[in-house]
Amino acid sequence: MTVRVGQGFDVHAFSDDPDRRLVLGGVVFDGERGLVGHSDADVLAHACADALLGAAGLGDIGSHFPDTDPRWAGADSLGLLAEVARLVRGAGWQPGNVDLAVVCERPKLAPRRDEMEQRLTDVVGAPVTVKGNRAEGLGALGRAEGIACWAVAVVER
Ligand code: MG
Repeated sequence: MTVRVGQGFDVHAFSDDPDRRLVLGGVVFDGERGLVGHSDADVLAHACADALLGAAGLGDIGSHFPDTDPRWAGADSLGLLAEVARLVRGAGWQPGNVDLAVVCERPKLAPRRDEMEQRLTDVVGAPVTVKGNRAEGLGALGRAEGIACWAVAVVER
């Protein structure tokens, strides 16, 4: 068996638009500020997708879903992630697991962690785990200016 690992990263700033919804791991956080982005700005889904693409040697999310393409405006990022999982399998790789580390001051992730993990796991077709961390007041993330996510994925064949 051949195993490969991939890394993903994404960050989005909070939006001043009161109509932007906050979507993380496909879960809507009502009453929280949304993130700026061409799609729904789901940083977890984007980092997860980039890690899978990297592991499979298939480039990155920007090359497959350019943010200049009106097709992806306001897109549901779980749909993009589903397409990435399809591409990875199409290239002969089976996703093994993906682990996500999210850094934000808010919202609190723990109460919705199971939901996010379930939605991402369903879409990827392999276990996706989500861990939340605060930035302890340091830098832009610590000033609650946005949300960042790091991801590591394993694929095998
Ligand atoms: Mg993104």
